[in-house]
Amino acid sequence: MTTPTTDLLAALGVPAAAVTGGSMTVRSPIDGAVIGAVHEAFADDMTAAIGRAQTAFLAWRNVPAPKRGELVRLFGEELRAHKSDLARLVSLEAGKVTSEGEGEVQEMIDICDFAVGLSRQLHGLTIASERPGHRMMEQYLPLGVVGIISAFNFPVAVWAWNSALALVCGDTCLWKPSEKTPLTALATQALFEKAVARYAGAPAHLSQVLIGGAAVGEALVDDRRVALVSATGSTRMGRAVGPRVAARFGRCLLELGGNNAIVVTPSADLDLAVRGILFGAYGTAGQRCTTTRRVIAHESIHDELVARLDRARAQLKIGSPIEAGNLIGPLIDQAAFDAMQAALVAAREQGGEVSGGDRVLAQQYPQAWYAAPALVRMPAQTAIVKHETFAPILYTLKYKTLDEAIALQNDVPQGLSSAIFTNDIREAETFVSASGSDCGIANVNIGTSGAEIGGAFGGEKETGGGRESGSDAWKAYMRRTTNTVNYSRELPLAQGVKFDV
Ligand code: NAD
Repeated sequence: MTTPTTDLLAALGVPAAAVTGGSMTVRSPIDGAVIGAVHEAFADDMTAAIGRAQTAFLAWRNVPAPKRGELVRLFGEELRAHKSDLARLVSLEAGKVTSEGEGEVQEMIDICDFAVGLSRQLHGLTIASERPGHRMMEQYLPLGVVGIISAFNFPVAVWAWNSALALVCGDTCLWKPSEKTPLTALATQALFEKAVARYAGAPAHLSQVLIGGAAVGEALVDDRRVALVSATGSTRMGRAVGPRVAARFGRCLLELGGNNAIVVTPSADLDLAVRGILFGAYGTAGQRCTTTRRVIAHESIHDELVARLDRARAQLKIGSPIEAGNLIGPLIDQAAFDAMQAALVAAREQGGEVSGGDRVLAQQYPQAWYAAPALVRMPAQTAIVKHETFAPILYTLKYKTLDEAIALQNDVPQGLSSAIFTNDIREAETFVSASGSDCGIANVNIGTSGAEIGGAFGGEKETGGGRESGSDAWKAYMRRTTNTVNYSRELPLAQGVKFDV
């Protein structure tokens, strides 16, 4: 088999045997062409891999953290050297336009840089002891095997957010990528192995990838040797995974669905708002967890804003994501297109007025699923608006008071990202205050998507509560121990308790 991906995969270090002759067919969402046939792992393979990861952990945890950082630094170098190839593979397999594919790999590079610095700063506190001659401190120590389950729409960056931190924290990683994007996972693993080969003394199996469906994921989820399960995907998946990990008292980091809103107030710079909303709603064909799905606009500017959005929406160039100039690529598969159509039917039934949303380019790409971005004027926040449909549908709503806008923003099951466009400092500060947005991300005068790696990323409610990436998200990948050291010749008990014979 020779496809456009064969050369790319070879350049990235993936042997042809790994992507041919397997039972899992991989199709490009660009045109539906088969681009690989990978070998599926089963639950037993996962169990064996966890054993290898556990053995590797016992050695890796004793390597000084800055030396662990050196491996991540080398991996970052491999990513830099292969950025355009890996980005192109992301475009071919996940359908992202070129700049977004490159942005995804840049995000991996950024988190590597962040993790390298972090490897010299995995600090705890020194705490004043109430007892004389005593010192109290806390340490963060390596946690164990980290299982990473990832979604199709960020096929490689999500793994990097987790693994770069986990590796400097002294953990080992097991990756179960989306069954829709195994090629980018294999390529990432190959680049990681290149870094390992340049690093003296790395234990084998620091990071492994197992391609498979939910059953392989479940084997990871249920195994007591996996100290942390970091799972990114739909709320449906999180509902299945969370309780299973909890049942064995494992640690879980959930990054699930979003239903992100932008509030636009009367004082907003509408030019800025239109640009922010367009990218947020329709970039990545609406297939980001942080995609803007709702606009909540003040009644005084609603009609003008929505008319401008509708005009701009109709001008967005849809087509192959690897052709220059196109801004909207395909949906991942037919199921995604069908879900989009079902949502538009429901929106009409619930009083919505729909523009766009039809299938396009069907003649050119009969095996692929391109959709015109949809804008739906809704009379109220009905059931369909509260549901995350993973497609380019933007619902618009009107509000009268800021309290009402914030209540609408918060009145959905998900709590990932949110934004306000305003030039009124009172409105901006209220939105990010305790009585404002209830999301993990609340922005002012920028959109809901496109987070930087320096901040902690994640959301509340049905988004799962996990935090990844920057700030102190690293603490999820370590175990905290509190140590009291007595350097006196006495043994005073805390709280003045006496226990002398
Ligand atoms: P999905 O839930 O269908 O699949 C995600 C991953 O979970 C896949 O690897 C899948 O094989 C695995 N999985 C599914 N059921 C499982 C089970 N029972 N046990 C173990 N593993 C299981 O999601 P998707 O369609 O690939 O991605 C889209 C969804 O992901 C959207 O809801 C989106 O909002 C969400 N997402 C969230 C974030 C975030 O950071 N919050 C980031 C990206 C995507």
